[in-house]
Amino acid sequence: MNIAAEVTSAQAEARAHWQAVAQAEVAPFARQIDREAAVPEAVMAALREAGAFASGFPEAFGGPAGAQGDPVGAALAHGALHEALGRASASVQGVLNVHHMGGSALARWGSAAQKAHWGPLLTSGATRCAIAITEPEVGSDATAVRTRAEVDGDGWVVSGEKAWITCGASADLFVLIAASAAGPVALLLPREAPGLSIAPIPDMLGCRGYAMARLILEDVRLPGEALLGKPGFGVSHVAATGLESGRHNLAWGCVGLAEACRQAALSHVQRRAQFGEKIAEFQLVQQLIARMSTEIHAARLMCRSAAVARGQRAMTAAKEATMAKYFASTMVGRVAKDAQQLHGAAGIGPKTPLEMYFRDARIMEVIEGTTQILEVMIARFSYQEGPA
Ligand SMILES: Cc1cc2nc3c(=O)[nH]c(=O)nc-3n(C[C@H](O)[C@H](O)[C@H](O)COP(=O)(O)OP(=O)(O)OC[C@H]3O[C@@H](n4cnc5c(N)ncnc54)[C@H](O)[C@@H]3O)c2cc1C
Repeated sequence: MNIAAEVTSAQAEARAHWQAVAQAEVAPFARQIDREAAVPEAVMAALREAGAFASGFPEAFGGPAGAQGDPVGAALAHGALHEALGRASASVQGVLNVHHMGGSALARWGSAAQKAHWGPLLTSGATRCAIAITEPEVGSDATAVRTRAEVDGDGWVVSGEKAWITCGASADLFVLIAASAAGPVALLLPREAPGLSIAPIPDMLGCRGYAMARLILEDVRLPGEALLGKPGFGVSHVAATGLESGRHNLAWGCVGLAEACRQAALSHVQRRAQFGEKIAEFQLVQQLIARMSTEIHAARLMCRSAAVARGQRAMTAAKEATMAKYFASTMVGRVAKDAQQLHGAAGIGPKTPLEMYFRDARIMEVIEGTTQILEVMIARFSYQEGPA
């Protein structure tokens, strides 16, 4: 399949739509978001208005019209949204990403009543969702979570602590993973639940608009209908669905961030002159431009292939999302560093966005599975495939 050539007019339209929305409504605020470590409400309102919260969800859940008839087109359009957001502001891409992660877990594993209740709230953006797996002592090994959910009559009592939660300080609803007697469970935790306290985490290296926080749960009582999926499904099914969606979205977001770096580099090298020549004419500069252009193109093709697999619900969808995230998140680190290098001192100083891009790019290899964990996963996928 020639993935590059298969761009329909509807797909091109979706790309143009999200690029226009992100450049007009998000990009002008990127530096402010980084400085103030918060996304202005006006930005979130514009994204709600444009339909960004609904993107990627099934039509029956409140997703975009036509998604059912053209699931591949819908997956590609969703990727285009995350690429456009990543280019405009990695922070905003992450905020939408955790919403889509938590929401996709709910859309996949929710009961009919849960979907009917939460679908319209999540797709309109009236309720902002996040996903809470990590704990102070539990990171890559999510199955070892210590937050405890005990059955209490018809409901649950939950105690423990979650760490490093994107939108912990701003989300209205958390898909929370906890340990129970029946194995890991996923529970829907509203922000206003009595016994939940939220401690913001300031001074993050990058993606400062993520509104990071710790969640401290002390005997939080949740009703029986807070359970998402079956007891025991918390990590293997519910969190896995959210993480697969997150890897797919983040891979596209990394392509967007890398493209922002590349565009900045292209305009700088064609303007800046040294030794009597535009630095764009030096072959060592051209080498960096050639590498970043090629790597971004390769990552975008991997993202497109992963989106096609996702839309087709292909057996390879999880593997492709994992590989795309692995490649794109390491690629954006190299591109951000090289783009900064091409700017010389200007890339380190406060007047160009290069230092922000560089800090934001560092985050990508840690979230949605570290690079090392993804390498383990890709090796396992490869072993499962066996010889051709
Ligand atoms: C900006 C940011 C946003 C985040 N948002 C969220 C969120 O919204 N929700 C949430 O639940 N979590 C979130 N996290 C947490 C994130 O998912 C974890 O940081 C990540 O899973 C790694 O866990 P850890 O930090 O505890 O590192 P550890 O798991 O302790 O790993 C430390 C190091 O050991 C390596 N390592 C661990 N196990 C293996 C292995 N088997 N083989 C090889 N190497 C290994 C890792 O790759 C890493 O280099 C966020 C983190 C950050 C930084």
